[in-house]
Amino acid sequence: MTLPTSELATALPPCDVTVVGGTGDLALRKLLPALYQSERRGSLAPGTRVIGASRSALDDHGYRTLVGQALERHVPGDELDPSVVARLLDRLHHVEVDAGSAEGWHLLHELLKEAPSGEAAERVRVFYLAVTPRLFGPICQQLDAIGVVEPTSRVVLEKPLGSDLASARLVNDAVGRVFAEPQIFRIDHYLGKESVQNLLVTRFANTFLEPLWNSRWIDHVQITAAETLGVGDRGDYYDHAGALRDMVQNHLLQLLCLVAMEPPTYVGRETVRDEKLKVLQALKPMTPEDVDRDTVRGAYEQGVVDGEVVTSYVEDLGHPSRTETFAALRVEVQNWRWAGVPFYLRTGKRMDRRASEIVVVFKAPPHAMFPGSEGATEPNRLHIRVQPDEGMHLHMTVKEPGPGGIRLRPVSLDLSYATAFDAVSPDAYERLLLDVIKGNPTLFMRRDEVEAAWAWVEPILRHWETSPRRPKRYPAGTSGPTAAATLLERDGRTWQEDDQ
Ligand code: NAP
Repeated sequence: MTLPTSELATALPPCDVTVVGGTGDLALRKLLPALYQSERRGSLAPGTRVIGASRSALDDHGYRTLVGQALERHVPGDELDPSVVARLLDRLHHVEVDAGSAEGWHLLHELLKEAPSGEAAERVRVFYLAVTPRLFGPICQQLDAIGVVEPTSRVVLEKPLGSDLASARLVNDAVGRVFAEPQIFRIDHYLGKESVQNLLVTRFANTFLEPLWNSRWIDHVQITAAETLGVGDRGDYYDHAGALRDMVQNHLLQLLCLVAMEPPTYVGRETVRDEKLKVLQALKPMTPEDVDRDTVRGAYEQGVVDGEVVTSYVEDLGHPSRTETFAALRVEVQNWRWAGVPFYLRTGKRMDRRASEIVVVFKAPPHAMFPGSEGATEPNRLHIRVQPDEGMHLHMTVKEPGPGGIRLRPVSLDLSYATAFDAVSPDAYERLLLDVIKGNPTLFMRRDEVEAAWAWVEPILRHWETSPRRPKRYPAGTSGPTAAATLLERDGRTWQEDDQ
């Protein structure tokens, strides 16, 4: 397989990427391996430095050892090239800082000021905050206090961006006191996936879909993000979040926006985000009655996943809980294009498969004209698989070959990225990190988008918090509570459980 020759391989400005939380799981499992891949592609400019910052008492050597071990664990063996590892490790530094105090920050200041001479003016500073959002405000204050934030500097914020609208606004206000909105990159790694970006290209760089992309021809849309994993050792975080906050408010609503948005006049820094915002603003608000009727929440029980018996959510946590590990919703977009077309969203942990996908289900042909074919024509479906095995499948009906009359047969036109392009899709974090360095915010969430998403989700959260109903139980290794199936059956529809 070849690596794609794309804009990923184009030269970037020299930069200093400071990862606050540089010793944490996200940094070691995702960010440093993504930077390794950029190094491997030759995308990082000479002199680029990566500075891990955390409370750990590590010198540069200790940090390089830690990262070297992480790369061995998290980069596939056939992609691990010792000379590339050595080049990346050479760029690494570590500073000991505590977000809660002023101590140690002068070390970061000294390191950043040490940039090779002649380059200082063009050198970009990226501050990636891979820490709990509680620390975003204090860290920005410290960065401001030591005078390292310049007009070309950027800050990257990880989810969760708040736990409701008010807390999201507090986080945004705190960061906004130091960084201007164009300097703030709120990451949603789903938007870095090839297939998600390809959705825009498929819709807007072709003519055959867009005339059909509306309530006249589309019956409904399903968006699923299913995991086989449980909460693992992130139970403390997850129990305060739940599926709605962790997945729906960000990833699923972002995917919905890309399916539902109007074509922007051109793909630019703000135009796509402007259109996504309009979709969020068009979501039909939910009353408490709507929440009872149009949402389902669940929590996994003991069950079997991939042939192994796994414990329930409550056992994984070690204490009772009312938090949902599964959510399904029937959502409406109130605008001309989508009036009357339901969008069904669902996400869950410990499900029967790992799959994130969008299924656009078209209306059935209005008339069965082939003799004996009543009920044999299935509606066309476009499956967009976000993960794993990114790709697209278009399901249509054809004539079964052979004599003896016309028999109808459903077939699938398949586009798997890996086989079609004989190329490895870059990891979402790699693409997004390079976009940050380039200063391209198109694939990042703007403040108004995040807050509009919270504003829509909040009535559901509040009703769930006060409702006497508890999450419905579902055995691990299944497709969720039966009520989630009923949500569609009530409308005469079913979930598409696979892409065949
Ligand atoms: P983690 O493993 O607990 O790492 C936290 C990092 O922050 C460590 O490097 C820790 O190092 C540092 N840190 C903690 N308190 C600090 C302080 N007061 N001052 C300076 N550094 C401090 O957490 P994580 O899983 O990497 O997640 C980090 C954030 O990203 C969380 O908000 C999480 O929800 C979000 N996130 C994580 C993932 C993921 O896959 N892990 C995915 C999406 C979003 P020291 O303890 O040495 O200071």
